[in-house]
Amino acid sequence: MSGADVGELDKRYVLHSHQRDQRPFRRMIVRGIGSTVWDTEGRELLDMLGGGIWVAQVGHGRRELAEAAAAQITELAHFTSFFEFGNDKSALLAERLAALAPGDVNRVFYTSGGSEGVDTAIKLARLFHHRRGQTERNWIIARHFGYHGATLGGGTATGIPDMQVGVGPNLPHVEKVTPPYPYHSEMYGGENPTDFLLRELEATIERLGPDNVAAMIGEPILGGGGVIAPPADYWPRVRELLTGYGILLIADEVITAFGRTGAWFDSAERGMDADIIVTAKGLTSGYLPLGAVLMRDRVADVMAAGSASFFHGHTYSGHPTACAVALANLDLLENEGLLKRSLEIGDWLRAGLAPAAALPAVGEVRVEGATVGIELVSNPETREPVSPDLALAVADELYEQHRVITRNYGPTLVLSPPLVLDDQQAKRASSAIVQVLSRLD
Ligand code: PLP
Repeated sequence: MSGADVGELDKRYVLHSHQRDQRPFRRMIVRGIGSTVWDTEGRELLDMLGGGIWVAQVGHGRRELAEAAAAQITELAHFTSFFEFGNDKSALLAERLAALAPGDVNRVFYTSGGSEGVDTAIKLARLFHHRRGQTERNWIIARHFGYHGATLGGGTATGIPDMQVGVGPNLPHVEKVTPPYPYHSEMYGGENPTDFLLRELEATIERLGPDNVAAMIGEPILGGGGVIAPPADYWPRVRELLTGYGILLIADEVITAFGRTGAWFDSAERGMDADIIVTAKGLTSGYLPLGAVLMRDRVADVMAAGSASFFHGHTYSGHPTACAVALANLDLLENEGLLKRSLEIGDWLRAGLAPAAALPAVGEVRVEGATVGIELVSNPETREPVSPDLALAVADELYEQHRVITRNYGPTLVLSPPLVLDDQQAKRASSAIVQVLSRLD
């Protein structure tokens, strides 16, 4: 069957979230090695997205992960382990994650991905308070421009309104506040951004009632919102404020954990000191679906106290094959020094994209380790964003003319290459991006 044939099948039978693609058949990626992938047309492409987006930390086609999966499947592919049973690989992985995680974050709950993890974290936070007699603590504070997944819980916490339209009532008791967005500091009316945001957060807590708020959720850096890092004092001050009100902090590290920004856990680097950390993506480099929700002892202790149970779980929680792959993936990240490499990739891209920053169509180039957001503007003076269609056209041209895979999030072009990208590949991607962007006016 030709590439066009399967592309047509996809168009006809598979429902995608993005149906804007006007081509007669969809571009389909079918093979990969390192940072290179091939589509059904046989075209060789540089994967600047990391296996879709923020996933393939160790690159494509790694035999080590295939062998770990094959060995485990032959031993025991799966046995559901969220009620009374466990398995060796999920226990070993939990021990490993506890050792890597900050401070007293020592207990793990497994999911199949990030959205389930966010829903789990929301339930954990509410249950934590309910079990301690504070049954009114139900509100979850999230942020505009945040992305927390597609389930009802994660989708409601997401601050990108398209996610919530036309699907009936969303999850109740979720409130949004403004995030730090240094490039658009006009949002803060001339005030110091962190002062503004802390004032707004405190006013929100007071309005909802301090004894009614369970948790705040946030990504250490906004990912799907456009790769936006906060000022250094933002998370420490948020943490301090929440602690004063007895409110838990959930770090959504689905993108950032496992080296994307150069650390095992970015939330620790940014002073979040989170009570619950949601991870997925880089945990297995996407070789198998797996998520892990990590929590501090004080949260886990409440869940496991006396005869109490956490009546929540999934058929594939702690899936032994996925956990075996995760263990092998962590070995690769560690043994190949890929966290350090993540920062080097950031340096290469920062240098390669420097000429882009001066172009009239480019508002800002934001580099956070091995992820980049290039915010495109129609007017550099007013910082008016380009239409998402124009940013999509840029990504299309990079694919078609330069064989470089990127993706737009609204007006922002996003990069998140595998952490095995080399300097020549970073150069090639950067110069293609500069070329395409220099033709925009
Ligand atoms: N949280 C963040 C920060 C994400 O970026 C994503 C996905 O991109 C999710 C949650 C949802 O994860 P999943 O798509 O695995 O359900």
